[in-house]
Formats: sequence, C-alpha cells, structure tokens
Amino acid sequence: MDIVKVISLKKKYVSGKIEVNAINGIDLNIKKGEFLAITGPSGSGKSTLLNIVGGNEFPTEGVVEINKRILSSMNDEELTIFRRRNIGFVFQRFNLIPYLNIYQNIVLPLELDHADIDSEFVKELIDELGLDDQIFKMPDELSGGQQQRVGIARALAANARIMLMDEPFGALDEITKQAMQDEILKLHRKLGITIVFITHDIREAMKLGDRVLVMDQGKIVQLDTPEKIKKEPANEFVYQLVGQNLL
Ligand code: ADP
Ligand code: MG
Repeated sequence: MDIVKVISLKKKYVSGKIEVNAINGIDLNIKKGEFLAITGPSGSGKSTLLNIVGGNEFPTEGVVEINKRILSSMNDEELTIFRRRNIGFVFQRFNLIPYLNIYQNIVLPLELDHADIDSEFVKELIDELGLDDQIFKMPDELSGGQQQRVGIARALAANARIMLMDEPFGALDEITKQAMQDEILKLHRKLGITIVFITHDIREAMKLGDRVLVMDQGKIVQLDTPEKIKKEPANEFVYQLVGQNLL
C-alpha cells in the first residue's frame, strides 16, 4: 500500500526577476513501512520536496496525498492537526527548547496538541533510544548525538507513522553518525514506520534506504534499490556519484 503519493509536482520560487524551478515535475509513490533515502547534490530540490510532502510548503503545481488525504484539500487548522498526528520531522539542527528538560522536550508536541500522553509508548521510545538516564537533564548537558536522539523521540512521541528527516546526522562526527544510522535502522524495523530520509551523502543513502531516490535539478534521476543503482546506474551522473564513493 502507498502511504504517500506525489503527482506531477512542481515548485517555482520567484524573487524579483529570478525564478528557480526547485521541483521540476516529480511523481512518486512511497510504500507504507518503506525507508526511502533521497540523495543528490546541494540545490537539487531535496529539502523542497520533503517540505512539500510534509505540508510545510505548498507546491506551484501537483498533488500530495498522505493516507489517502489530499493535503491541499484541508484548511489551515485541519492541516496543522493532520501533520502533528501523522508526520514527525527531524532536521539537522536539533531545535530543542533550551529551558525544558529532555522529557519535557519529548512530550512538548503532545502537550501543544492537548493530546493524552501514551506514557508506555514514550517510555519505550526513551529506552529504545538509550535516553533513560538523561530525561531530567537539560539539552545543553547532552552531546550532539544524544540531542538528535531526543529530536527523534520527540518526532515519534505522538506515534506518527511517517518520519521525514532532512540531513539529520549532518552535524554529527563520523563515529556518532554511524551509531545513529544503526539506531535509526533498528527503530524503523521495530516500529514499522515509513521513513523519508534526506542525505547528500550517497554512502549513507545506500546504507539506509530500501530504495534510493537520486535527484538532480528538481527531477528524479533514478529511484531503485541500492543494489540496482550500484549494478545499473541510470546514467553517467549516477555512475559518477556511485562510482566515486562506493567502488
Ligand atoms: P537541497 O535540499 O537539495 O540542497 P533545496 O530544496 O533546498 O535543495 O533547494 C532547491 C533550489 O531551490 C535551490 O536552487 C535553492 O536555492 C532554491 N530555494 C529553496 N528554497 C527557496 C526559497 N525559500 N526561496 C527561493 N529559492 C529557494
Ligand atoms: Mg537541503
């Protein structure tokens, strides 16, 4: 079953006389439970695509459907509630609230939503992410990797079934990054959630993705399993990208 459908998507930014076609015609289906890794050079439109899928931004043309709901058919309030309940976001910057402790940061979105806190599930997340000794600490007492674990727990606390991650490990050192990659694979398997994960690092995309989507200039260049991409790169661009890094 497809949990996300993107149809004929385009996004044009206009500032003064300058126009940028950030998304140039994208059709995409994401399967429920899939781990989709999106990669491509800086400026290729990865973040724009993720922001539109998550309802943070609106497309110039095209449709995004999540769980059979068309995002553009909802009013502001419906969209806000839909996003809080269905979609978790994790960005490169951890964006923790400095004056709230770790537990308070994790449950903040639930409190904003006046939702009941499923303490058992939140505890499971905290344990799973190895944060059980940290919950009464303040964000600045945690390492970068730990802070991003809090970001992940916060994104999942409302039991969102879709997690959108934009370069989440981009600010971490290599060793921490590898530990976090293993962590996210474990969580994905355990919770059965759908993950859309942006990285400009092709190695990371190939390690994590069930499928890897390679973008360039606002278009999909290739969307295949990592094995297929290694064996049959769609064109010279993908060949260079994969070849330089993975041979
Ligand atoms: P990526 O995440 O792959 O680096 P982005 O989606 O951030 O790429 O950007 C795609 C293109 O759209 C780039 O040329 C970028 O400069 C442009 N862009 C992104 N956001 C805006 C914006 N808010 N206003 C104008 N141009 C933007
Ligand atoms: Mg980006």
